[in-house]
Amino acid sequence: MRNAAGLMLASLVAAFVIAGVWFWTATPRGNLTPPQAISAAKLPPAAPAKAGAPRDDIEVTGAIPEKPAIAPQPVKAACANPDALGVSRVVEIDTTGGPGFGFEHFKQLDFLADKEVVLTFDDGPWPANTPAVLKALADECTKAVFFPIGKHATYHPEILRQVAAAGHTIGAHTWSHANLNSKKITEQQAKDEIEKGYSAVKLALGTAPAPFFRFPELQHGPAAMAYLGTRNVAMFSCDADSFDFKAKDAAQIINTVMTKMDKLGKGIILMHDFQKHTAEALPALLRRLKAGGYKIVLMKAKTTFQTLPEYDEALVKDMKLPATSLRPVNSVVQTVSQ
Ligand SMILES: [Zn+2]
Repeated sequence: MRNAAGLMLASLVAAFVIAGVWFWTATPRGNLTPPQAISAAKLPPAAPAKAGAPRDDIEVTGAIPEKPAIAPQPVKAACANPDALGVSRVVEIDTTGGPGFGFEHFKQLDFLADKEVVLTFDDGPWPANTPAVLKALADECTKAVFFPIGKHATYHPEILRQVAAAGHTIGAHTWSHANLNSKKITEQQAKDEIEKGYSAVKLALGTAPAPFFRFPELQHGPAAMAYLGTRNVAMFSCDADSFDFKAKDAAQIINTVMTKMDKLGKGIILMHDFQKHTAEALPALLRRLKAGGYKIVLMKAKTTFQTLPEYDEALVKDMKLPATSLRPVNSVVQTVSQ
């Protein structure tokens, strides 16, 4: 009996080992969480960080493993410029609960390593300037996050589609660039600005944007922040504001950005693809970042923003476009007999 039981036990162990090996080898790796994903899930809606909070209070949820379980994938297959700035790292953001990024307002998620930079551009799409920004980024084989204004997306949808086609991340920046922290704005108006902005971007792109949002003028209205939290939208402040909209020329923008980066050592840079001087500054600015040893990180979203149908439909109606344009053909036409 003892021998038989021992044999059975050995067989069972062997079976488990074989099953385990099969499971390991058969499990599709694609389902695994990328090693550099930032899990911001289960966080409460981001609140403005208290000024002067000590650094050791920072709750780091974006842990980056020392030894990734999966070898990092090449970010881009082909780049004609051998000395390009490129993209050193792509991070995927879980926007559940509305995490905040950018130390000017949100200090909870400190995920950038020293010399890592995220490029962000607001207020487009706009003729000439946005295409010039796209060209400068393409020449350096690098990527950025764009926060277009909804109205501008309806004026120039083809330019926004160029931004998407180049592989940049696209979020939203309200419908009309309203200050969502103004006492004059109601909670309903703030919601309308947010939702209509996203619906306009989706209408221009033909696909849903990332659940990434930047408040106009970095005016973080508490009610709007709480609303974005319920919509699982990540909020973007910045670490280095270029103040490019005030700059008298391209040189001033480059100087402002490089001075701030050299002081901070890393961070999210805020610029405007809407601004002529920014488009002019970008080629030289990207070279300066490369020469300074900075590396570009691209932030992507784990999921897309789910627009609300009533806003999609209202926008189409406002623009006097055919209402069927937002519905896929298979939801309109069904073969019932053949
Ligand atoms: Zn703006």
